[in-house]
Formats: sequence, structure tokens, C-alpha cells
Amino acid sequence: MSRIRNIVVLTGAGISAESGIATFRGPGGLWEGHRVEDVCTPEALARNPELVHRFYDLRRAALETVEPNAAHRALARLDRECPGELLIVTQNVDDLHERAGAARLLHMHGELQSALCGACGIRHGWTGALPPDMECPDCGSPALRPDIVFFGEMPYQMERIEAALAACDLFVSIGTSGAVYPAAGFVQLAEAYGAETLELNLERSAGSGWFGETRLGAAGVLVPAWVEAVLAEV
Ligand code: NAD
Ligand code: ZN
Repeated sequence: MSRIRNIVVLTGAGISAESGIATFRGPGGLWEGHRVEDVCTPEALARNPELVHRFYDLRRAALETVEPNAAHRALARLDRECPGELLIVTQNVDDLHERAGAARLLHMHGELQSALCGACGIRHGWTGALPPDMECPDCGSPALRPDIVFFGEMPYQMERIEAALAACDLFVSIGTSGAVYPAAGFVQLAEAYGAETLELNLERSAGSGWFGETRLGAAGVLVPAWVEAVLAEV
């Protein structure tokens, strides 16, 4: 019997980098030329809704120009073939995991192709531009905003994530800097519950010391190799 049955995978912007989507902390610590505080906080949305909406409109439009890479495809294969429990928790707001075919997937920081009503809280699938003051199809309030979890807001489905971490035998973090909480703390939680922990990243992340093992390199190379090996074990 293998020791590994249930797996939780956490992904970050690094897994989409080889598809051509910029990571969060690109050159100069900016996200696509903007300070994170200017596009990723409730205060920024309140102060300058035009800028924040336009920023995510551009990110949403850019999805049409990119494709999943070998790392997304390998995780989709893991999803199809892993006989135990699997949960892919992504911090990414792109749709490359689902386009590669992954289904046991959760977007903890929201999705570009979704609009959230600030009045009634209902989420609506969204493509194309989302100007400020769009009316909510449900409650009619002119309160639709990008469905992105900003700093200071509660990520989605934390209870489900914590239950999966408690039940997993292996926690794998891919392409994330370990700078954004609570995701950065998942490794400690998984470890406390007795799971093995593995980091796959281009460079050591902020919480690298918490992982039982770290493999450094590009996700497009490391992830297919890891999936191949783990499927031979489960
Ligand atoms: P981050 O930018 O802080 O860190 C990315 C990490 O990936 C870095 O440690 C970097 O060394 C590593 N990396 C870069 N290229 C890689 C590659 N080819 N292979 C493996 N690793 C690589 O990203 P984060 O930790 O996900 O930051 C969190 C926030 O950024 C999230 O909340 C997310 O919503 C937001 N974000 C999402 C996207 C997206 O949806 N694709 C893009 C940018 C930012
Ligand atoms: Zn509404």
C-alpha cells in the first residue's frame, strides 16, 4: 500500500507564467505595471473604480490570447487518473486549469470570468468588459464588480480547503511566492495534520523552509515529471 492517497495541490501565478501571463510580483514588484495596492484592494475599487475595472477587463481580455501549458495539462491528467481524493486549490484568477481539463478545482481568489454583485453577493459568469455601475441581473443594483478577492477580503471556500488539508497525505505547492496569506500558511496546516509537503517553484519561496522537499525549476518541466511519478505510486 502506498502512503499517498489524498492530495491537495496549491497553485499560484508561476504555473501560468509559461503560458505568457505575468506573475504578481513581476519586474519592480508591480503587477502588469501597477502597484498591487492600486488594483487589488477594496479601497482602490472605491477610490478609482474606472481604473480597477479597466485593469481586470484587460486581464480578462488577455485570456483569449493564452493557452494552458504542460503543467496545467499534467494536473488535469492527475485529476483524471488519481484514484484518491484530490483538490487543486488555485490562487490564480485565470481559467487555464479548467481549459486544460481539471475539474476537482477551486478558485480561492476569485475568477476573471466572473462578476460579483457588491449588493446581493451573487456571482455571475462574465465575459467581455465589465464597466463600473453595471446592474446586477439578480437584484438590479448598479453594483457589479470584478469577482476578485482583494487584500483584506476573505478567500472563497476556506472550510472546504481546510478539510481537504486535514485529510491529505501529500500537499504540493506550485509556482507561488508564499507571500499571500492564508494560502502561504497551508503548508504548515498540512504538515501539522501529518501530510508530506513538496514545493515546486522557480526559486525558493518565502515559506520554503516549511516544506519537507523543494524542487527548483520551471513548472512546465517539474509538474509533468512529478505527476508521472506520483501516479505510479497512488
Ligand atoms: P507571485 O507572483 O507572488 O509568485 C509567483 C511565483 O512563481 C514566484 O515565486 C516565482 O518564482 C514563481 N515562478 C515564476 N515563473 C515560474 C515558472 N515558470 N515555474 C515555476 N514557478 C515560477 O504569485 P502568487 O504567489 O500566486 O501571488 C498571489 C496572487 O497573485 C494571487 O492572489 C493571484 O490571484 C494573483 N495573480 C494571479 C495571476 C493569474 O491568475 N495567472 C497572475 C498574477 C497574479
Ligand atoms: Zn445583486
